[in-house]
Amino acid sequence: MQAAACNFCGKQLTVDQVLYTADARVACRDCNAKVDLVQTDMKVGHNIRNASFYAIGAAGLSFIFNPIFLVTISSMISAIYSLTAVNRRGDERFTQHIQKDKGAIYACAIIALVINAIVIILIFIAISQVSSQPKHYGEFEYR
Ligand SMILES: [Zn+2]
Repeated sequence: MQAAACNFCGKQLTVDQVLYTADARVACRDCNAKVDLVQTDMKVGHNIRNASFYAIGAAGLSFIFNPIFLVTISSMISAIYSLTAVNRRGDERFTQHIQKDKGAIYACAIIALVINAIVIILIFIAISQVSSQPKHYGEFEYR
């Protein structure tokens, strides 16, 4: 380790003042704190984006694997969360980091909701067919 200049404000730092950001850039204590804050905000923003990606992934998965509709339910929660969070007033410090992803977030969340709606309708159809079937088994009345 040797003395270096802060990568952000250019201040000369002695060895014991040198800090490293998560992406390994040299920072003074003040700049490191600011970068930390921005990275935390970014993380929240990315969580909103990831929620929409999860929603569409779970919606697709729910066709194959959907114990007690848990996958559909969690997909809907994530989709609704990402849709509301991406435009929430006062949260610009988080959402400014995902502006370029907004279109993708909307698309994923809305498609996820549509898929979830289809899954729920299919489940209702399946349930209503099972319950309308005759009680005596062994005879084939449906074709
Ligand atoms: Zn600095």
